[in-house]
Amino acid sequence: MYSLKYQLLFSSVIAVIGGVIAAFYFSVSILLTMLIVILSVGVSYSILILFVYRPIQRYHAVIQSQSEKEPIQRVMIESSDEFLHLSDVLNTMLESFRKDIIRMKKLESVRTEFLANVSHELRTPIFTTQGLIETLLNGAIDDKKVNREFLRKALVNTERLNTLLGELIDISLIESGELKLRFRFFDVISFLKDTVNEMQTAAEQRKITLRLDGDTSQPIDVYGDKDRLRQVLVNLINNAVKYSEPKNSVTVTYNNQRDFVEISVRDTGIGIAPQHLPRIFERFYRVDRDRSREVGGTGLGLAIAKHIVEAHEAEFKVVSEVGVGSTFTFWIHKQP
Ligand code: ADP
Repeated sequence: MYSLKYQLLFSSVIAVIGGVIAAFYFSVSILLTMLIVILSVGVSYSILILFVYRPIQRYHAVIQSQSEKEPIQRVMIESSDEFLHLSDVLNTMLESFRKDIIRMKKLESVRTEFLANVSHELRTPIFTTQGLIETLLNGAIDDKKVNREFLRKALVNTERLNTLLGELIDISLIESGELKLRFRFFDVISFLKDTVNEMQTAAEQRKITLRLDGDTSQPIDVYGDKDRLRQVLVNLINNAVKYSEPKNSVTVTYNNQRDFVEISVRDTGIGIAPQHLPRIFERFYRVDRDRSREVGGTGLGLAIAKHIVEAHEAEFKVVSEVGVGSTFTFWIHKQP
């Protein structure tokens, strides 16, 4: 295949030869015919070079620069309607190409960061358990003062591993869109009573008072996936308990609106500083990593809760002050 420029040149030469043959055949002055043919061929050649060949070369340069990973350029050739249209189409393509590249780069870095976090989180309980078992095998098993304590710590770490894996499975199901929610009508009042009751032992263990406020005599129907919403509420109560000091209190309240029921979990705990608030729903984000680990946190609870609440077409509202406490609020709709 030859360049368009040479193909044009070749057609011009053919035209000149044709002109000469025609001049002979019709016995017209050969000089005049040659002049007319060369003039018209020259004009057409220049027009084609200027309005067809050059624009194509510009398209070519722009497209090539995209593949060479240079910043994406736009191209606008207005020499004819066809090129104007082609420029529009090409620019739209380049724009979506640019968006795809940005999305892919972002996904790639999110994936890398996620993998690094997961390996780090898994490594801690595995190494701790390994160390405890090694110490026991090296003789500590016969030391009555520490053997049971080491075994208990190993158990706590395997439990942490189990929680972490469960939450990792949840988050991957949610983010891949494979988690199917089972929406049903249910009574939110008995849901609140049951969940608060379930969490009493955990609160008592940390000497925290946990109670449900408000009138609980009348049922109120809401529409949602009860099990997943329980997971959200358990996480909020768990956090409220975990990030409070003994003798603090945790109160669950509800606010019955016309179309939805708002649920709040309020604590009088350590609170969250304003600069951390926008990030606490991110995977693995913790305000105080050591404290979270110490109380068995994985850094995934709120990320999962946020996904579940958003799947119910609702959101979280958080109000918090360091040393005063935090209130987490979400709502459940009454109708589909
Ligand atoms: P974790 O498993 O670490 O508790 P979460 O995703 O549930 O992870 O919460 C993320 C972070 O938000 C926690 O590590 C903690 O720093 C902060 N946080 C969540 N709830 C509260 C709360 N009620 N009071 C203070 N800090 C909180």
